[in-house]
Parts: sequence; C-alpha cells; structure tokens
Amino acid sequence: MSIRELFELQQFDLQIDKANAEIKQIEQKLGNNAVISAAKSLLAKEQKALDVLNGQRKDLDLRLENLNTKIDETKKQMYGGKVTSSKELASLEKNSGLLEEQKKQLEAQVLVLMEQIEKQQKLASDASKSLQEKESIKGSDAVGFNERVQQLKAELKVLTTNRQAEAVEIDAEELANYEKLRLRRPGVVVSKVERGMCTGCRLNVPARDISRARGNVEIVYCSSCGRILYVI
Ligand SMILES: [Zn+2]
Repeated sequence: MSIRELFELQQFDLQIDKANAEIKQIEQKLGNNAVISAAKSLLAKEQKALDVLNGQRKDLDLRLENLNTKIDETKKQMYGGKVTSSKELASLEKNSGLLEEQKKQLEAQVLVLMEQIEKQQKLASDASKSLQEKESIKGSDAVGFNERVQQLKAELKVLTTNRQAEAVEIDAEELANYEKLRLRRPGVVVSKVERGMCTGCRLNVPARDISRARGNVEIVYCSSCGRILYVI
C-alpha cells in the first residue's frame, strides 16, 4: 500500500495530460484556416468590384470614341463645303450640339468612375496586403508551433518512460483502481492533505480520516470530493 507512489505516478500523468492538451491546441490552431479564407474571399470580392468598374470604364471609353468619330464626321459635313442648304446646315449644327452635350455627359461619367476606380484599387490592394500579412503570420507561427510540438513530444517520451518505471512499483489492483478513477474524473484523483484540508476540494478532512490515511494500510477517500487522500 503506497499512496505516495500513486501520487508520484499522478504527477507524471498530469504532466502527460498537459503536454497532450498543448499539442492538441497547437494542432487545432494550425488547422484553423478560417482567418485566411476570410481574407481571401474579401480580396476576391474587392477584386471583382474593381473588375466591374474597369469594365464600365472600357464601355464609356468606347462610347466616347464613337461619339468623337460622329462629332468629327458632323463637323466635316458642316465645314466641308459639300452641304450648302441652310436647312441642312442648321440640322447638322443642331445634331453637333446634341453630340457635344452627350460627350460632356459621358466625360462627367468617366470622371466619377475614375474616382470610384481609384477608391476600389485602394480597397483591393489593402485586401491583398492583409491576406499576405495573414499568410506570413501563419507561416512564421507554423515554424514556432512545430518546434514546440517536437519539444513536447520529446518531453512526452521521457515522461512516459518515467511513468512506466513508476507504475511497475505499484500494486496492480491499486493501479487499476487509480486508472478507473482517472477515467471517471480527469485531472487530480490523488489529493494531498495539507493543514487538515483536502487540496482537491479545499474542504477540511475529518481527523479520523487523516489518521486512517496516514496509516497507509487502506485507501481513504475524501468524504467531500471522493479523491484518494494522500497524507505525508
Ligand atoms: Zn476533497
């Protein structure tokens, strides 16, 4: 009967649990691509909006080009000398005025669009920078995290060996009981008694239980939390 050995075994188990929990946490963090995929879809959205605006700009440029051609043709007709009828000239002049008016409107639209394009370019370039940043942070994180995982795995190897060496010292039935308790309640199952108090639940342990536990002939459980009491 040795609660002390069980307690020491537990110290290994707690460290093993801690290392495994850290490895699991790191693996979850490395597997978490939500931040990056959010940055990617933002970039795609901004880029698409920019493409739409650039497409509109091309359309406007094309319309402006056609309009300029029409204006040139009209002017040629007006001043080419071929048209002499005053009625026809007046009609050409009216037409030319309308075309110039259309041109002004188109040019105003181009100016508005250019402003929008400039703003959208900034948004797209910001989104691209943000994605690059997140990808590089993830890259540098991964290096540090992988190193930490290697370190933890090396520690686990040592801990497991030490735990095995400790476990062979313990009575098989006691060990099985301990394992069963650990399965039911992860964490501390062998609780030190300090100044008459169970350190597992922070409640006072009756003096009778303390002396029974100190006797080291039977397993004494905390009457409050059910942990195995360990009295030095
Ligand atoms: Zn307790």
